[in-house]
Amino acid sequence: MVLTTPLIAHLAKSGSVDVLATPAAATLLANNPHVRETIVYDKRGADRGARAFVRLASALRARTYAAAYLAQGSVRSGALAALSGIEERIGFSTSAGRRFYTTRVPYIENAHHAARLLSLATRDPEREVPRSTLRPRLYPGPAERTAVDRVLGAIAGDALVVLAPGSVWATKRWPYFADLARGVSDFARVVIVGADADQALAEQIIGATKGQAISTTGRLSLLGSAELIGRAALVVTNDSAPLHLASAMNTPTIAVFGPTVPEFGFGPLADAATVVGRDDLACRPCDRHGPQKCPLGHWRCMREISPEQVAGLARSLITRGSD
Ligand code: SF4
Repeated sequence: MVLTTPLIAHLAKSGSVDVLATPAAATLLANNPHVRETIVYDKRGADRGARAFVRLASALRARTYAAAYLAQGSVRSGALAALSGIEERIGFSTSAGRRFYTTRVPYIENAHHAARLLSLATRDPEREVPRSTLRPRLYPGPAERTAVDRVLGAIAGDALVVLAPGSVWATKRWPYFADLARGVSDFARVVIVGADADQALAEQIIGATKGQAISTTGRLSLLGSAELIGRAALVVTNDSAPLHLASAMNTPTIAVFGPTVPEFGFGPLADAATVVGRDDLACRPCDRHGPQKCPLGHWRCMREISPEQVAGLARSLITRGSD
């Protein structure tokens, strides 16, 4: 959803844009000035099943939309657009739901995913788009500002560095965040973002900094984490969701890539962003998502990125930002 916001902004220049989203994704569109309405579709909860699907299609049909942009690409979303009577249905030629589309746009493998999504509107996947146009945008509001004020009330001092040590995929979790936190806490305040599942990682970091770092894992919404990241001098993240929150808030970013590479389309888009990865490893990349275990057993793509290297980059990015 974060990477869809440039497409939404582009479409809003020529008409009203409503977005159909899951409950979690919908929260990311709060306060977005380019969205007229976010329609929540809880396909795994309250709106589960065929009856709710048909009810939604009939509600969408009554709105007489001119076009549907099928960014997500599923069979379900394509079928919903068709059943809703939306005449123009645009999606990627490679998507599972392509049989329902009236226009199929080529999916360019090495393009940034924000550019791929934007090409659904421009129909020109080869077009060069400036980074500033591709950069996603999020709009935290008063509730997120209050939540972050409350979290940051506990600490004070130097520049804020946000660490995002989690990832659903085990091999994408750089294993030295705790060592990095120890190095960085000499010159910055360290705050950890993540989901409930990242609590154990956060505790390791807190332990390494002798309690100086604080954790917001499970305490902030996605938009709240975006607000926090927006106040930071630097984010250090794996190839995971906080990377895109940092892009949306244009916060200087160090992105640590292990088994995946930015060329898959999910690299950072902040103006000051550095990617760290072992480009000299022949086995890399080994998987589009990152396997749960290194198939070769050595996991060199992550183990051989040292905390000293990343701490040095962090120091220079923060110094550059404060010049
Ligand atoms: S095979 Fe190579 S790229 Fe894949 S997890 Fe192992 S070290 Fe990393």
